[in-house]
Amino acid sequence: MSERRVRVRFAPSPTGPLHIGGVRTALYNYLFARQHGGDMVFRIEDTDSTRFVPGAEEYIIEAFKWLGIEFDEGVSYGGNYGPYRQSERRDIYQKYVQQLLDAGKAYYAFDTPEELEAKRGEVENFQYDASTRLTMRNSLTLPASQVQQMIADGEQYVVRFLVEPGRDVVVHDLIRGDVSINSSILDDKVLFKSADQLPTYHLANIVDDHLMDISHVIRGEEWLPSAPLHVLLYEAFGWTDTMPRFAHLPLLLKPVGNGKLSKRDGDRLGFPVFPLEWHDPKSGEVSSGYREKGYLPEAVVNFLALLGWNPGNEHSEVLSMAELIELFDLEKCSRNGARFDYIKAAWFNHQYLISRPDAEWVPELDRILRANGIETTPEKEEDVVRMMKLKVIEYTDNEGNKKKRNVSFVSDLWPLCRFFFVAPQAFDREDKFVRKNWKETTAEEMKQFMRQLQETEDFSTEGLRQKIDPWTEETGIRPWNAWRICLVGEGQGPDMYELAAFLGKDETLRRIENAIQQLG
Ligand code: GLU
Repeated sequence: MSERRVRVRFAPSPTGPLHIGGVRTALYNYLFARQHGGDMVFRIEDTDSTRFVPGAEEYIIEAFKWLGIEFDEGVSYGGNYGPYRQSERRDIYQKYVQQLLDAGKAYYAFDTPEELEAKRGEVENFQYDASTRLTMRNSLTLPASQVQQMIADGEQYVVRFLVEPGRDVVVHDLIRGDVSINSSILDDKVLFKSADQLPTYHLANIVDDHLMDISHVIRGEEWLPSAPLHVLLYEAFGWTDTMPRFAHLPLLLKPVGNGKLSKRDGDRLGFPVFPLEWHDPKSGEVSSGYREKGYLPEAVVNFLALLGWNPGNEHSEVLSMAELIELFDLEKCSRNGARFDYIKAAWFNHQYLISRPDAEWVPELDRILRANGIETTPEKEEDVVRMMKLKVIEYTDNEGNKKKRNVSFVSDLWPLCRFFFVAPQAFDREDKFVRKNWKETTAEEMKQFMRQLQETEDFSTEGLRQKIDPWTEETGIRPWNAWRICLVGEGQGPDMYELAAFLGKDETLRRIENAIQQLG
């Protein structure tokens, strides 16, 4: 038998913003599909109209665009297996529901919500199954003619799956191995509701996976309890031979404590649980997103890929999408929950941020400057980016040690680059660097130094060097650290000649004068 073409799907229900766990599921599907040269399908499972949230579908599509997770087919992408929105596939499901009814593998049930409620009061741990179904109002207990009449009269009904008790149902899971349960614990799940003429998740999900020729179902662990029912449905339809292989991914756990990651953890500890900011259309509540927080999509992808899988110690943790596609191994995913380490997420962002080419920093810097009310030119911005990358983010301290500043987000840059655009307002005399470098004689020396600057005609980096270097030789005055205090306010920043050239003569002199006045 020839190998089956790999076709996977990501099938969210549009009930709100996509949770970061859902993003991880989609990513694993994507990595698996790309690794096998297969197809990635985007299906919208919107058969539960009561939970539909406007904007959710668009949000999900935008999130994947931002993350660089591309689908081959599906809602908004097109393809040969459409429509890909379940609400547009009603007629298809009707036919398959009928098939199960005709084969005696499903039945009509007319029990009203009140009747079901009464039953629950009567029977302890009531479940609609082999032990109770013959005491209920359904097509197994009512005469066929009456059933036909009730349907013709427009009485509401549901179609339930008839689960045979006492059978071992085995789910072959690529991550968990064989998971076996006894069918007696399953209930006769509702597959279809006459009220909205729509199937439930279970039926639509199975029928679509079959019709869309899905080879692997990779989804969150929370769906594992549904898998035995799904196996039985494939059997009932006679599709066992083409049943997809299952892989249930480990849960994402809280950063601290027990249980699965929730939005509340994010709110409490200050990290987003959604890829993009989400504006709830009903409550107006705004939930933060990775994009708006200043994360780079590559960092989010890298971080999520390693939550539940890792390529082994011989590989770096910083991996591009292409490397992830090559290394990913579905069968090596962990069975245990993966702890959500948001500090690590910031660490990944730092890695990607500092390795970005200068050109990509300019628009980001521009955004920060605008937000702080600063108008400047692209040339100046390029200059600042270059100087920052060289000396501000990675720098050598006074003792000659190589250091890196903690720049995890673009927004962290503002305090580090503010001095390029705004003169220091006040000086902190207690600052170690200030105390050490602003002495009794400094003000007098800086006045002499100002005269040299004044006389410098060519105020470029080179021009300054040519004028000032010989002067320091002659006089023995070392103006560098005090000069830094004047221009930056503290012991950080780029080469002083470069910085002065950037600021220009007037601004440089103004800042020195101001410092002399304040520090004396
Ligand atoms: N619609 C389900 C969800 O919202 C899909 C589950 C599955 O992948 O089977 O996650």
